[in-house]
Amino acid sequence: LTGRLGDIFDRLRKRGALSEDDVNAALREVRVALLEADVALPAVKAFVNGVKERAVGQEVLRGINPGQQVIKIVHDHLVELLGSASEEINLNANPPVPVLMLGLQGSGKTTTSAKIALRLKNREKKKVLMASLDTRRPAAQEQLKVLGEQVGVATLPIVPGQTPVQIARRALEEGRLGGFDVVMLDTAGRLAIDDELMREVVEIRDATKPVESLLVVDAMTGQDAVTVATNFNERVGITGIVMTRIDGDARGGAALSMRHVTGKPIKLLGVGEKVDALEAFHPDRIAGRILGMGDVVSLVEKAAETIDREEAEKLAKKLEKGGFDLDDMLSQLRQIRKMGGMGGMMGLLPGIGKIKDQLKNANIDEGILKKQEAIILSMTKKERRNPQVLNASRRRRIALGSGTTVADVNRLVKQHQDMAEMMKKMKKLGQKGLMRQGLG
Ligand code: GDP
Ligand code: MG
Repeated sequence: LTGRLGDIFDRLRKRGALSEDDVNAALREVRVALLEADVALPAVKAFVNGVKERAVGQEVLRGINPGQQVIKIVHDHLVELLGSASEEINLNANPPVPVLMLGLQGSGKTTTSAKIALRLKNREKKKVLMASLDTRRPAAQEQLKVLGEQVGVATLPIVPGQTPVQIARRALEEGRLGGFDVVMLDTAGRLAIDDELMREVVEIRDATKPVESLLVVDAMTGQDAVTVATNFNERVGITGIVMTRIDGDARGGAALSMRHVTGKPIKLLGVGEKVDALEAFHPDRIAGRILGMGDVVSLVEKAAETIDREEAEKLAKKLEKGGFDLDDMLSQLRQIRKMGGMGGMMGLLPGIGKIKDQLKNANIDEGILKKQEAIILSMTKKERRNPQVLNASRRRRIALGSGTTVADVNRLVKQHQDMAEMMKKMKKLGQKGLMRQGLG
């Protein structure tokens, strides 16, 4: 597949902005890749349209071709849709916090209950009680008990003849009396969605008011995952999804479809049969897996990095010449932000050690950088070139325009002055001195 995509994209070699044709050609193949990865058709359509909108007109980076550029946009959009951060189990409630495990038979609910219990016990030092509400499958309750012993987590004593709701009530009561932080309720599944199953879990839900209702879905389920997720979400209500058997060869496209139809986050991944085979959900990893084009993505990232470095070097040259206006400061701020902080950018500039310390002392963080950017953006061209014209009324206007205060504007102007001053001194040291100082 990757090879086929590569061929198509090689034919697209061109420079400049991405045209609609470039994007359409690349997206035809992306659509196939997504369908092959078990992403449901409506999700594929919505996805492809979203990418098209943002891709057409984007500049193609040097060193890569338009198709590769589209893949990177596709990848980033995929990551975004899959959920940007990995979300942990929500335990934000008075203990014992009920966690309801939902899903079809064999999806991995019981195993995942034990895995989550172990994770909460180890990572968050929580006291967890597990209860099996599966009265349908013979020995289901024993299965959980054995797993509980294996992970060192308590299970509710088995009382034969009770209904799932009776067991659930007893579990919460025991959770209260025993001082447990979390009560995991492992429900019975069915081979397919049916009304009896839905009635049963709704009744359990109403009796226990779970804080988390986690839908456990086998990654191999493919397209059916959408039906399962839709039904559970609409009829019972879910708060998150756990995808199991991601250690198999399923590409995980179901994650995107389920996210698309339910809007609920994928919280965790089951990556094996062992009780510690549970991982936080990393959208970029799954995105790479769904697309199967990780090498293209890293190629484009590298190209973007090179361009950042070239910009930095250009700026360094300008600094050495001594002319440093607010536009230069703006592009510097953006670079710093893009490169994830002070270290990356400053390391590239010769002789910048002192300023680096100065800025570090000024306690620069992401939020401040954004604010500073906004301030400069609210200035006219003339003001940026020639900050001397910034009188009080101009500063008031800029503060208003950038949603900051006059004090913020003053601070930025002062900082620019300090930097320009420093540049002048550096220039006096001369090119050779600079290099020695910076690189030595
Ligand atoms: P339940 O019917 O939903 O409770 O499913 P079980 O927890 O009993 O799991 C069914 C089978 O799937 C068991 O053999 C588990 O060991 C296996 N299983 C569960 N999660 C995973 C996983 O992430 N990877 C693999 N390879 N197997 C899993
Ligand atoms: Mg089970």
